[in-house]
Amino acid sequence: MGKGKLIVLTGPSGVGKGTLLRSLLANHPELYLSVSATTRSPRPGEINGRDYFFVSRSEFERMVANGELLEWAEFAGNYYGTPRAAVEAQIAAEKWVVLEIELNGARQVRKTFPEAKLIFVLPPSLAELEQRIRGRNQDSEAAITQRLLRAREEVAAADEFDLQVVNDNLERAVMEIEHQLFTPAAC
Ligand code: 5GP
Repeated sequence: MGKGKLIVLTGPSGVGKGTLLRSLLANHPELYLSVSATTRSPRPGEINGRDYFFVSRSEFERMVANGELLEWAEFAGNYYGTPRAAVEAQIAAEKWVVLEIELNGARQVRKTFPEAKLIFVLPPSLAELEQRIRGRNQDSEAAITQRLLRAREEVAAADEFDLQVVNDNLERAVMEIEHQLFTPAAC
């Protein structure tokens, strides 16, 4: 890897990673956010190529077989993966790249890029997380159950990460991440 950096943001579904990321990217336009491929259907308002590359299962399997994904995982019945080429090009250009991915993908990245910074976003509590997932009204009951089960597994693995941030206050959570990423001693 060149002088670019890989930053991985992981945390259970509904924890507010998207909001945290938007804040981080607004403060640091030099960060490049990787757009993942997924077999999940687009949610209202999501745009192909901006939020995800929405692909069929067979297209996703072709990408895996061709080695086009840096990491990939199945999550709540769908595949998700990071397209390799864009990330490698940004890192070669010494850019900082952010991946917003789930636990198994983060573990794969840690093996492939041991120097990556792994950040885990925790909810204030699992009860609060359930409220947030239900409150956004985006998922079926079956998907909510799957996401909550997965959330417990993910939270249990939080100490595998370089930094754990509790997302109870957006500004403070963003500052903690910025401190970890941009303080010279912490880099
Ligand atoms: P959602 O369906 O809510 O957009 O995403 C579900 C989960 O998949 C989230 O935890 C999200 O971080 C994760 N995810 C999104 N893109 C990727 C990816 O490229 N790889 C992996 N491993 N997980 C991803």
